Amino acid sequence: MTSDLTFHQLTAARPPIAIDYHPIEGPAQQLLVSGEQLHANACLHCGTDQQQLLTAGHAYTHAGGLAWVVVACAAHLARSQEHSRAGALEQPDAPPPVA
Ligand SMILES: [Zn+2]
Repeated sequence: MTSDLTFHQLTAARPPIAIDYHPIEGPAQQLLVSGEQLHANACLHCGTDQQQLLTAGHAYTHAGGLAWVVVACAAHLARSQEHSRAGALEQPDAPPPVA
């Protein structure tokens, strides 16, 4: 059993991907992201890849149910964590909840 999806040829030209985003702190959100964002190559919120990107939690795709580590730029990460500081990172490969 592998812990990672076989990489599809996702590019910026592909349509958005619906994910359930689980921040390090706070409730899950449903977002539409690009392949670059899903693969932690761009900020989950603004899509920049020109700034330092920090781990911002993880996401589940609806189709696969696998966890992806996602990142955000410092400004967006600070905003999402302004209420509390994360004491420990969740394991990015934790099994997804099965409904
Ligand atoms: Zn950002």
